[in-house]
Amino acid sequence: MAHPYLTIDLDKIEHNSRALVDLCQQQGIEVVGVTKCVCGHPEVAKAMLRGGVSAIADSRLENIYRLRGGGVESSYMLLRLPPLSGVDEVVETVAVSLNSELSVLEALSAAAIRRDLRHDVVLMVDLGDLREGIWPDELVPFAREAVKMPGIRIVGLGTNLGCFGGVVPSEANMTRLVHLAAEVERTCEIKLARISGVNSSGLNLIASGRMPTRVNQARLGEAILLGRETVHRTPWPATFQDAFLLHAEVLELKTKPSVPIGERSEDAFGKRPVFEERGERLRALLNLGREDVDEDGIKAVDPGVTILGASSGYLVVDVTETARNIRVGDQLTFSPNYSALLAAMTSEYVKTRTLRGGKPIRRETQLGCSADSKLMRANHGPI
Ligand SMILES: *Cc1c(COP(=O)(O)O)cnc(C)c1O
Repeated sequence: MAHPYLTIDLDKIEHNSRALVDLCQQQGIEVVGVTKCVCGHPEVAKAMLRGGVSAIADSRLENIYRLRGGGVESSYMLLRLPPLSGVDEVVETVAVSLNSELSVLEALSAAAIRRDLRHDVVLMVDLGDLREGIWPDELVPFAREAVKMPGIRIVGLGTNLGCFGGVVPSEANMTRLVHLAAEVERTCEIKLARISGVNSSGLNLIASGRMPTRVNQARLGEAILLGRETVHRTPWPATFQDAFLLHAEVLELKTKPSVPIGERSEDAFGKRPVFEERGERLRALLNLGREDVDEDGIKAVDPGVTILGASSGYLVVDVTETARNIRVGDQLTFSPNYSALLAAMTSEYVKTRTLRGGKPIRRETQLGCSADSKLMRANHGPI
């Protein structure tokens, strides 16, 4: 194979989903599976659904078109705030979206009415992480305006922590969310069915049994895909961390000095790299570069392989310590973190191979998902 490729083990994703769904169910929490990191890969979503997630959420409509086009039967939630310029597509495509702007809600309401629909919305509250959300003081007046809009229905309250500001979900901030929900219910005379409290950074709180009982939804991406909670990034018990593996081919294999020779200036990316004198080392150049992956976010599965750096098209690794007898043309395997997985899934140059029962389920010929979802969009449009 001339391209680097990602293997996606669907059984492991299904297993991880089931393990987390079981944990959350014990606390009365439903799990929505988040597919944005895999660009809405349909087989990944199907594995999540087999594992028991109640719905699929993604941040991009293109990904949701891809999921639909790939035959994923589920209800969908749009995770990223809808754009004012795209409300028609939003109400046509997803059952529920997360929101924080009145002008957008007005437009969603009007778009829904034009289609004789009602669009469900979860109001996002910013509890300190400083990404999306209505500031708590402004929530009640906001909700009072929003309930008047005939085309939308406020079905829940949500918050997103551990993303921009790295704020840890706690009993205190989740209790605050529940209190805010009660206040909205009282002042607006509505019932909020969903309190969507956490993403993968909330697993420890859920497992501790201290999550307030009204919080009944978790939106999980990384925990399912990579088997980690995201506060300390510790592997979650009884889940797999290696559902995704990245494979790249050795293009050059040579023994070279460990420090460059000659007057030194900036590298290709404007940095001044530092080298340690380690004598002559056996180095391999692989067909994987910054255009495909975040090299700081991958780790060789073989402990004898160390990443030295990357340019746009090459990954440079030191293979001196490996027990394997590596040759040109061999594949080396890497384990991606979330950011590396996102980059690899988005790269047009990285192929994916989905495995079920250890075997490829079909040969995927499409390159990258960005091209693929554009295609889906062109072929299917909003459904
Ligand atoms: C990405 C995202 C999630 C999922 O986050 P993970 O850390 O991958 O579990 C949940 N909610 C929102 C709003 C998101 O944008």
